[in-house]
Parts: sequence; C-alpha cells; structure tokens
Amino acid sequence: MKTTDVNAFTLKNGALFAENVPLSTIADTYHTPCYVYSKAALIDAFQQFQLGLLGTNHLICFAVKANPSLAILNLFASLGAGFDIVSGGELARVLAAGGNPQKIVFSGVGKSHEEMRAALNAGILCFNVESENELHRLNSVAAEMGKIAPISLRVNPNVDAKTHPYISTGLKNNKFGVAFESAAQLYEQAAAMPNIAVHGVDCHIGSQITELSPFLDALDRVLSLVDHLETKGISIAHIDVGGGIGITYADETPPAFAEYAKAIMQKLVGRNVKVMFEPGRALVGNAGVMLTKVEYLKMGNLDDADKPKHFAIVDAAMNDLMRPALYDAYHEIVAVEPRDGEAHTYEVVGPVCESGDFLGHDRLLNIQEGDLLAVKSAGAYGMSMASNYNTRARAAEIMVDGDQHYVIRAREKIEDLFALEIVPSPR
Ligand SMILES: *Cc1c(COP(=O)(O)O)cnc(C)c1O
Repeated sequence: MKTTDVNAFTLKNGALFAENVPLSTIADTYHTPCYVYSKAALIDAFQQFQLGLLGTNHLICFAVKANPSLAILNLFASLGAGFDIVSGGELARVLAAGGNPQKIVFSGVGKSHEEMRAALNAGILCFNVESENELHRLNSVAAEMGKIAPISLRVNPNVDAKTHPYISTGLKNNKFGVAFESAAQLYEQAAAMPNIAVHGVDCHIGSQITELSPFLDALDRVLSLVDHLETKGISIAHIDVGGGIGITYADETPPAFAEYAKAIMQKLVGRNVKVMFEPGRALVGNAGVMLTKVEYLKMGNLDDADKPKHFAIVDAAMNDLMRPALYDAYHEIVAVEPRDGEAHTYEVVGPVCESGDFLGHDRLLNIQEGDLLAVKSAGAYGMSMASNYNTRARAAEIMVDGDQHYVIRAREKIEDLFALEIVPSPR
C-alpha cells in the first residue's frame, strides 16, 4: 500500500508527467536540476492521514524538516495542519508561511535560550523537552519572561524501530529523549516547577518505519507512563506519538494511514486525550521528484573487468539529494522520455568530487546524453538537506497544480553563494 493514493507522476503517451504537465516542459522552462512537487499529491497525502482520524480529537503536526518550503507549509496550514519544528529557523518559517503558532510543537535536543524565548513569545502549543537540563533551562527562561511553558517530555521507549541506524531514535543509546526509567521522576520535578505546565507525553522512535508493531509497542509504554503519572496526580492532556511512518521507495509496504491511525486510536479508546502526530516523510516523500539531465555517458572498457562499469554523469549531485550518499538510500530513477532499444546498467552519479556522490547504483537505463531523468520519491529530505558543496547553487523548486506550474523557490545565483564572504584588505 502506498502512502499517497494520488500517483501524480505517470507516463502518458510515452512521456513522464507531473499531473498534467510533461516533465520535459518543466525542464525546458526552469532548467535542471530542479525539484518538482505535485500539489494534488500533497493534498491527498494530508487528507488520507486526516481521513483515518475522522471524529477523533487529534492534531497532525507536519515535521517541517522533511520539507520546509514556505509554499508547502502554507498549503498544509490551509488544510488545518500544525507543525513539528526543531529550530528557531523552522519557527520563523512556519510563522512566515502563515502557520498557527498555537499548533506548533517544538522538538530537538539542543534548544538555545534564544529559541526558547522566540517560541514562548510566539505562544506555541508545546515544547517537547528532551533532557532534565533542558527542563531547568526552559523553566528559568519562562520565569524571566513571566510566562508558563507548556511541555511534554519526549520519552525514549527503547523499542527497535527496525530501520536504518542513522534514522532510528527510540533506542536507549541515542541522543534523543529522556530514558523511560527516569521519565516519571522527571515529570514530578516538572510538575513542581513554577513556570512549567505539564501538558503531554511525547515519543518519536525513528523514521521510514514500515511496520506497525514498533509504533504500538512504543505507545503501550507511553500509556503505562500516563497511567502511572495519573496516580501521582499528574494528568496528561495529549499524547504525541511522533512521526516516522515510512513510504514506498522501492518495494517497501508501509501501513496505510488508515490502518496506522486505526491501530493507534484503538489503544486510546476510553481515554480523554488529544492525539498528536508528527509525520514528515509520509506527507511529502512521494509528492516530489528531482529532475536532472544526463551530461555525459562514460562507458567502461569491456577488457577492464568481466562487468564493466558504465557511468551516467548527471547535473544533479549529492549536494542536491544527499540521501543516497548519507544513508545509502534507494531512489527509483526513470527516464522522462523512455527510449526503445537496448538498455545498459549505469552508475548514476553527479559532478561532485566525492566517490560517495551517487544517486543510484546498477540502474538499467536506455539513455543518451541530454536525456532527462526523474529521481523519484524525492519530496522528503531532498531539498531540505541540500547544500552548496562544491559551490553549487541549490536547485529550483517547482509546484505543479493540474496543468499549471510555477516556481516556489528560485534557483540560487552563484554570486549569492559567496555574497556574505569577506576578503580581508591588506594591512
Ligand atoms: C524527523 C522527525 C519527525 C518526522 O519524521 P518522519 O520520519 O519524516 O515522519 C517527527 N518528529 C520528530 C521529533 C523528528 O525529529
């Protein structure tokens, strides 16, 4: 089951489209590399999530770091979304995009004084506190401002999310959250602090999780904590189950939103709590592709090895889409205008000077120089992780809506990349 039902990127008459716009038109108009999003797919993903929660007391907080584009934040805000932020920068983005501060939860292990002040000033819904010392700091920052900070503790339920170690966050030995064993005692401390108001319990166990059981195991632990806190006179108004539902990149079969929501809600029957969700990838991942052009084909020499390496050198690189280099992540790569005839197996690589600069290994493609490729499932942690490594301007971002298309982020200009730099004058 796919997490987005609208398949916005389909072949029509032998060419790949985004909704009703040929991707070749996008490339002609805005050049490559660029990110292309489907508005219909974004809306559909959000509404599918909502549908599973119909009639329940809930809030869907889009995890901004998955894709912080103002246009996308604005779209989700218009659909009623809240936001999960992890920095003061993301707070500013959500506000600039018209997000409601009273629907913002603030996660992250390293909140600075300044970030706490900004969030208290904005009047956010909840701080997801990740350590004892953060709790003390938040209490004193709130006291200085004469405010009360609403909090959840992010507890670490110590369940294995069965995902890549870099994106697994719910195990004991990682930097996120407070140990399950010390959470109850910390809640008692928090409840006694004059400028802290205990609102909820939060947990987030990792990303790209494709099974239900880790979510349900984590929720069981959270609920046992909630029950224990109740006996101590600490009542919990909301449970934040975090994000982390996976998407289909290749052949993964993550639970459908409805199935996931139903399983979560079943465990909460009879409890008077609001449920919060922090999905990131699942709302945007399959709503975007990265469009790139083949610059060079470099065919391996048959005499070199029994299996020669052919390279397709494209104009996008690890600075544009970092997931393959960072996590060895798989993204499907397809020709925008598939050709007939013999295909070859290629390493699809970028121009950056790193052996880790690849977008895909061993891809069977029938391509020529100048052809366009679409790197699929690039809507999440694509542009948001892009950098200027090798002094490469970050790509343009384009939104497609039916037969309309428009820029939502212009391609960076090279001169802007060093505009803040200073060459000291000779003394
Ligand atoms: C990254 C993150 C999310 C979103 O994770 P996805 O796998 O994209 O759904 C949610 N909550 C927190 C605290 C995060 O750090």
